[in-house]
Amino acid sequence: MRNELYIDGRWVKPMNGGTFHVINPATEEIIHAAPAASPEDVEVAVAAARRAFDKDGWSRTSGRQRAEYLRRIASGIRARLGELSRLEVLDNGKPLPEAEWDIGDAAGCFDYYADLAAKLDNDSEEEVLLSDGRFLSKAVKEPVGVAGAIIPWNYPLLMAAWKVAPALAAGCTMVLKPAELTSLTALELGAIAEEAGLPPGVLNIVTGSGSVVGQAIVEHKDVDKLAFTGSGPVGSAIMKTAARDIKRVSLELGGKSPFVVFGDADIEEAVEWIMFGIFWNQGQVCSATSRVLVEASIYDRLLARLVEATRNIKIGDGLEEGVLLGPLVSRKQHQQVSAAIEAAKATGATVACGGKRPAGFEKGYFLEPTILVDVPLESDAWREEIFGPVVCIRPFETEEEAIELANDTRFGLAAAVMSSDDLRAERVAKAFRAGIVWINCSQPTFTEAPWGGYKESGIGRELGRWGLENYLETKQITRFVSEVPW
Ligand code: NAD
Repeated sequence: MRNELYIDGRWVKPMNGGTFHVINPATEEIIHAAPAASPEDVEVAVAAARRAFDKDGWSRTSGRQRAEYLRRIASGIRARLGELSRLEVLDNGKPLPEAEWDIGDAAGCFDYYADLAAKLDNDSEEEVLLSDGRFLSKAVKEPVGVAGAIIPWNYPLLMAAWKVAPALAAGCTMVLKPAELTSLTALELGAIAEEAGLPPGVLNIVTGSGSVVGQAIVEHKDVDKLAFTGSGPVGSAIMKTAARDIKRVSLELGGKSPFVVFGDADIEEAVEWIMFGIFWNQGQVCSATSRVLVEASIYDRLLARLVEATRNIKIGDGLEEGVLLGPLVSRKQHQQVSAAIEAAKATGATVACGGKRPAGFEKGYFLEPTILVDVPLESDAWREEIFGPVVCIRPFETEEEAIELANDTRFGLAAAVMSSDDLRAERVAKAFRAGIVWINCSQPTFTEAPWGGYKESGIGRELGRWGLENYLETKQITRFVSEVPW
């Protein structure tokens, strides 16, 4: 585990010698003292990124050259998949198979953007047809500049990959700040970039608190673009600060995503996807389908099966074989989710199963997977993101009612629908006001497809070619060719 920051291609101690504790959420033990950067460290990191972009020429490398580095980073991640996955479990708590999945996906993300970087050599110039034949015009894609990336703790290395890979592919340089709860694998990414021979200053990794390190990145005049994933209030504050210098901003924020199950759906399949949609990663997933709406004709049967299956979920340390639900990420998260369940009960909601610390777990931030019924529509439990293994479920009578309930939220990240009637599923998918819609499933995520939210769930799209656009400017170059062409 590393105790230095990765700045300008070197490993350095924070200037003020700061550290912070890393705690294993399954045991509550302190496992490391991570480096807490200061604003002065951010200053050096941004200066290095600026120099690498402006003077050292990263922005002028060919897409094929950048693709080489990205592929080497992908191989470096794959070569250390086992070690990185274990670190992720120690830091975040998730079950090991989930961590392995995430790390593999992170490597895949670097490979994917390597391909797009190479393609940019051919695709970055496009002829523009003008109405005036005396001029020739083209649109040219160029990197935005220095990007600042601030990421959350739920998918530590994967969220880093979602930002670092497209930024570097586009020709941007970057200062990355992981969440203070999960810095370990992001620092390892620095070591992998170093081994890949990435030029100094292209990727800088500074760990520490949001209010100090994150804020310093957000406020820095030499940062051209901010890419943030995290909570709504912090996203909103970042956008406000960014407005001062007209920085480019992309935000991936929270959600309260609906899952609509029609009476013609297969109940067993629906139960599987509902559980996957809310209990994967302990429900600490921005796109978690945390509001389940079930057609009244199958509601009782589905609920009974869901409760039964949920009670059978194996809880434990993420490193233990067969565990499906690990601890929440921190004491604070455990307290917040537990408080949300208590508040839901106080508004009249009933706990159909779960709702408390599981028996036999004195240590660790463990919480039973929880199903809430009779949740009032105006209550926080129905309207606010809980970000834990807690699902609210209620019946509906008509398609119209289901759509209305699904869209009655200030969020718009994801939504899911299950029905054996393809036309109906397609109709409902189109009616959802959300950026990501799943039919007959919940949560599958692909590097190739756009990811991001409507309404208060964010601005901009990550992944796919849309993710690359986040880090590109479009320049018009017009040439006068002839006085009288006609
Ligand atoms: P958070 O907003 O508290 O923190 C996210 C990051 O922002 C961390 O690195 C933190 O250190 C930093 N930060 C905090 N205050 C800051 C400030 N004033 N200036 C700059 N940076 C600051 O969120 P979290 O608790 O880490 O993550 C949970 C939230 O993230 C949830 O609401 C969830 O929905 C959202 N999320 C969204 C997505 C998505 O793709 N839309 C993915 C994961 C998480």
